[in-house]
Amino acid sequence: MATTQPNSVLMRRALQRKCPVCGRGDVFATHFRMNRTCPRCHVVFWKDPGESLGAMYLDYAVATVAFLVAWLVVAFATHLSDTLQIVILCAVAVGAVIIAYPWTRSAWTVLVYLSGGIERPRMRAIRGGKEPPKAGAA
Ligand SMILES: [Zn+2]
Repeated sequence: MATTQPNSVLMRRALQRKCPVCGRGDVFATHFRMNRTCPRCHVVFWKDPGESLGAMYLDYAVATVAFLVAWLVVAFATHLSDTLQIVILCAVAVGAVIIAYPWTRSAWTVLVYLSGGIERPRMRAIRGGKEPPKAGAA
């Protein structure tokens, strides 16, 4: 089934951490605990457990931007030692990833949706795109 939501709606749903399909169900139950399915429309957000690897690309982007912004501030606005600067920059990068965690996962869920990875469960006839093994096959 083709995607019918405009990108602006999908981006708003990602920022609000809402289901990209219905826009009402929460993607996250708590800051760190993602719902496996939408509590409203019951689609499975990430069928493939490897989707978390994709969300890590967004974590990497968040960490990089936070690191670079903090680097500019620390390098030009302070006179701290190099060691202390590195400690601060690492803490800022890790902190940004932890704070942004539900938004990066929510944004990745929208990308999964755009790529056709989220469907209503009954529409998916064959799991993983492979036929089930035939009885008696060698
Ligand atoms: Zn939903």
